[in-house]
Amino acid sequence: MTIHILNCVSMSPWWPRWHLGGVCLLLETDKGPLLVDTGLGLHDYENPSTLVRFYIADTGIHMDAEQAAVRQIIRFGWKPEDVHHIVMTHLHFDHAGGLPDFPGSQIHVYSPEYAAMCKPRGLVERMAYNKPDFDHDVHWVLHNKVDTRWFEFDAIRLDFEPEMYLIPLPGHTRGHCGVAIRDGSGWLFHAADALPTNAEFDLLPSWIYKLVIGPHVPRLKAFADSHPEVRILAGHMWMEWFEKNGSTRKKIPSGDLNDTRTRSKSQ
Ligand SMILES: [Zn+2]
Repeated sequence: MTIHILNCVSMSPWWPRWHLGGVCLLLETDKGPLLVDTGLGLHDYENPSTLVRFYIADTGIHMDAEQAAVRQIIRFGWKPEDVHHIVMTHLHFDHAGGLPDFPGSQIHVYSPEYAAMCKPRGLVERMAYNKPDFDHDVHWVLHNKVDTRWFEFDAIRLDFEPEMYLIPLPGHTRGHCGVAIRDGSGWLFHAADALPTNAEFDLLPSWIYKLVIGPHVPRLKAFADSHPEVRILAGHMWMEWFEKNGSTRKKIPSGDLNDTRTRSKSQ
C-alpha cells in the first residue's frame, strides 16, 4: 500500500516565523483513492472569502492553487470523481477548503465536529469554519459511535482496507479526530492538529499547546515515546519536511519515509 503525504496549504506566519505545510493524505484503498483532509480548495485561491482573506494576511498563506488537493490528484493521474471518500480530522478552513472540488465524494466526519460547524458557539468557532466550504450538496457520513480501541485510544473503525480508525481527540475543535492507518506491519497515526507542529513537543510552552491544540499533547508524547513503531504526523509539518518526505508529483513507497520525530526544525 502506498501512502502519499501531500502539502495542500503552505503558510509562513509572522510569529512564530515558521514555514509550514498542511498535511493531507492520499491513500490507495479497496474503495479507490481516499483523501484524509483536503487543505485549501480552488475557491480559496481564486475567490477567497473574507474569513480566508483574514487568514491569508494573518498566517501568510502562499497563494499557490497548484497545492490544491484536486490539482495534485490530477497530477497523479486520477480524476476528482475517482475520490469517492474523504475522511476529515476536523472542518477548519485549512483542512476542509478543498471539499467543493470533490462534489461527488462522501465526507466522513465525527458527529460533534459536524455539529460544531453547523452551529458554532462563540467567536473562536465562528472564526474557524468557512461557510463556502460546505455550500454545495455535501454527502456527509457522520460517525458518532466509538466502537473499539486502537492501542489505548477510543476509536471508530472505518469501513476501508487497509485497516483505518478515527481516533476522537477533542480540544482543538469539538470533534477533532486523528486517523490511524495500517501501513504494512506498522501504523501511520495522523494526529492532525492535536499534535504540535512537526510532531515536536518542545517548540512552545505547554500552556500555549493546551490553549490552541487541546489537552492531548502529554498523552500523545507518552504514546510516541512508548510506540516508536508507530509513525506519527502532525497536521502541520515544516515545509522542508515535505520536500524530503512528502509527495506532490511522484509516488513514494511509504517505507521510505523517515521517522518524523527524529527531525528537528533546523534540518
Ligand atoms: Zn485546525
